[in-house]
Order: sequence, then C-alpha cells, then structure tokens
Amino acid sequence: MSLLEIADLKVAFPGPTGPVNAVNGVSLRIESGQTLAILGESGSGKSVTAQAVTGILDVPPATVSGSVQLRGRELLTLSRKQRERVSGEEIGMVFQDAMAALNPVFTVGHQIVEVLRVRRGMSRADARRRAVELVDRVRIPAAKDRMRDYPHQFSGGMRQRIMIALAIALEPDLLIADEPTTALDVTVQAQVMELLAEIQRDSGMGLLLITHDLGVVAEVADDVAVMYAGRIVERGTVEQIFAGPAHPYTEGLLNSMPRVDRRDEQLYAIPGAPPNPARLPAGCPFHLRCPRATDECRVVLPPLLALPADRASACHHHEEVLDATRR
Ligand code: SF4
Ligand code: MG
Repeated sequence: MSLLEIADLKVAFPGPTGPVNAVNGVSLRIESGQTLAILGESGSGKSVTAQAVTGILDVPPATVSGSVQLRGRELLTLSRKQRERVSGEEIGMVFQDAMAALNPVFTVGHQIVEVLRVRRGMSRADARRRAVELVDRVRIPAAKDRMRDYPHQFSGGMRQRIMIALAIALEPDLLIADEPTTALDVTVQAQVMELLAEIQRDSGMGLLLITHDLGVVAEVADDVAVMYAGRIVERGTVEQIFAGPAHPYTEGLLNSMPRVDRRDEQLYAIPGAPPNPARLPAGCPFHLRCPRATDECRVVLPPLLALPADRASACHHHEEVLDATRR
C-alpha cells in the first residue's frame, strides 16, 4: 500500500459556458520517504491537484471526483470534520505565502503551542518546550527568544521556516509543499529547500512538492510528474527525465533551464503560452506549442502510456522524442 495514491482525479470549476476542468484524470503515488515533484507552469493544475489532496478546495464550487487514498483510506468521501482532522494531523502543508498561513495577531510561539495543545492535548509547559525544539529544528537562531515575536518580525525566509515548523509539529506522514520557496531570494530559496529536504529525509515523511522550477526538482525529488493543461504528460524518476525526456514539453522545459556548461548560448523558451483550460485545443493540448506536432497530434488526444522502466508519456511520438533526447 502506498502512502498516497491518487487515481483518476478530476477537479472542475464552474465557468461561464459550463464546467472547466482544472485537473483532468491525474493518477499518482508517493511512498513513505519519497519526494515526488509535480512540475508545471502556472495554470497547469498542479496546485489544484495538491489542494484536492489537502481538502482545502472550496467544495462547492469545485467538483472533485476520482480517488485520493492516504495509507489506503479514501479521503474524498470523508466528512468535512474528518477531513480537517486528517489534513491537520496526517498531512502537513507549506505554501508560497507564509503571511497567509500564519496569524498576524499572535506570536509564532503561541501559534505552535496552540496546535500542540489542541491537537495533541499537551500541557502548556510541554507544548512550549516542544515548540522551541521545532523552531530550533528549522534553524532559527535563538529559537527560545524568538517565540515571542510576531510573524511580521521575521524575514521572508525565516517565516517559511516557521511555517515548516508548524507543518511538522504533529509529525505528519505526508508533507505537501506548494512553491514553498518561490517568493524568496535565490540564495534563501536554496537554504529553505535544503532544510525541507533534510527534514523529509530525517523524518521519513513522503513529500509532495509542487514547483515550476526544474532546478529544485533536480536537487530534491526522487520522482517527477510533469503536468500540462490539467493532465500528467510525463512521469518518471528524476534520473530518467534528466537523462532523456519522453515528452516534448519536458524537453522544452529542460532546454530552457540555464546550464553552466552552456553559459554563452541563448536560453531556449517554449513558444506561446499554456492554453486556457476553458478552451483546450482539439487533439494534444500541447500541439500549438510543440515543434514535433504532426497531423495526428492536432486531432487525437494522446493517452498517458506506460513505457519501459516504469515511466510514462502522453505523446504520440514518445519514441522519437526519446531517441532524440537520450544522452
Ligand atoms: Fe507534440 Fe504531438 Fe507529442 Fe503532443 S502528441 S507533445 S503535439 S508530438
Ligand atoms: Mg500554483
């Protein structure tokens, strides 16, 4: 049994001319101790997928179908109350914007202590001791003294660390991090990502990491699922995908990544923009931007096909792509 198993997940929102499918049949699994990165541009459905797992989607108006199982237990059919319990205790969450997750009117110490008291029934003294440990664990200097500070008194990077401390306070089995470092300076990004990866390794949690950044994927992920227009278009291990992508979209993302060995060359950019989910083109949703598109691609939607070595691609021409990209 996997830690998390998502099967045929679909999420639709009401649109002016009918439901808009933000997520369109996503299947994924994560094992304990593993990091799965969902990679994609904004609007690809990666955040909505994570939100469907955590149960923080507004339902209604979102319509969610399919299956999301945590250790074999179906989450989508739980009551709101049960769901909140699971999300709080078994799934930890880290977002891009810590200010939105932390309460500005309480000290960070108070916020962590309250979680431990309410959810774990700890005494005030025990909760306080544990909270200091957690703040120290995320490497905030002088943890004990900073407990009395309010969220705005921390730098952006330090606030992300506080949010990580809160997310791991109840020792969840699964941590979901949605663009956790995107709003930070590049050097701070690397430090926070390193901390997250280290905590994941030490605790044996599963980590579902949502990112648009291939550099982050290369650093911390075991497996990657590339999303485009609400679907997974390629899935594999980090090694497989970096050694030779099996989908032209992944190929484009890799080619647009800065590389030290090609410093002088102009960076490639995938032409065009992702399609509006309310008006997807016929056939392959990537065909308008794809340098390898053929007539078939303009008409027939490519299914996500299993390839050898437990990877998958949703491209009619995956074999040619693999032949061309394998290094
Ligand atoms: Fe490109 Fe065709 Fe593959 Fe779609 S199916 S990614 S258009 S080659
Ligand atoms: Mg997002």
